[in-house]
Amino acid sequence: MNWSCKFIVFLFFKSLGIFAIGLATFLVSTVVVGYYKSYYPFLLTKPFPFLVGHLIIFSWLIGGVIYSYYKVIRTKPGSVPLGLKTTGQINRIKQGYSKKYRYCKKCDYIKPPRSHHDSVTGKCVLKMDHYCVWINDCVGHYNHKFFLQFLTYCCLGCLYVVLCTFPPFLVDIGFLKPSSTSNQNYEKCGILFIICLVCLISVSFLLFWHTYLTLTNQTTIEYYENKERKAYCNENGLIYKNEYDMGKRNNWNWFFELKENDSWWKFLFNFKTISNDGITYPRVNSTKKSENIL
Ligand SMILES: [Zn+2]
Repeated sequence: MNWSCKFIVFLFFKSLGIFAIGLATFLVSTVVVGYYKSYYPFLLTKPFPFLVGHLIIFSWLIGGVIYSYYKVIRTKPGSVPLGLKTTGQINRIKQGYSKKYRYCKKCDYIKPPRSHHDSVTGKCVLKMDHYCVWINDCVGHYNHKFFLQFLTYCCLGCLYVVLCTFPPFLVDIGFLKPSSTSNQNYEKCGILFIICLVCLISVSFLLFWHTYLTLTNQTTIEYYENKERKAYCNENGLIYKNEYDMGKRNNWNWFFELKENDSWWKFLFNFKTISNDGITYPRVNSTKKSENIL
């Protein structure tokens, strides 16, 4: 692909990304306005603790959606640092004397373990997962955690609104009779129910997929690589094991940088920047705690 084609691809994805971020912001705003316009009047007819409880839950979930989305957009996935190798060492690798290191011809860099070249941004990305138009960037080492938090808050927020607006939706389609004391706008609640149900179904597939990847310590790219390696090993009577898989709980704690005694759900409140450098990773089969490529 020549430079003009690369530039057109880059421009197309960046424009699509700006549109997608605008659409996501519009959807979140629609849900917030819709909730206060259609469901809030119903809450006002209920006892005060019921009203406050609902407002706390909604504020927490919508706050989580907005903050995690902000974090995932603002956090760069992580690029390969310069100076991983000396010129002499790189020349040896180029000439084929050393097979130990992964090398990116496009960037002229040594690729650390788990990093891959992204054709949209034209850079090598640390622990690259995929290019996501919804964040207009790659999901990689530093922002994958926020991406999973965003998916979780989206699903929880949508589930909450779906559960709240389901009875008024049934009234709107004529399945239930309207309550004489309720002042809900059934039609608006019905629209809100459909928007959130569609979002819930679409996002939950992504959430399940990325939760599975986190629990098995793989990226989407590695999943397909590991699948091929597993098939090769099966054909040759060998047993393949992902060298980064430390067990579900350890993988989860490592991914979100939780402490050993922390509850699994604490990931929802942990918005700290990842401290791991993305160059070294703990390996199960390694005698050392981590394998350094330097
Ligand atoms: Zn590269």
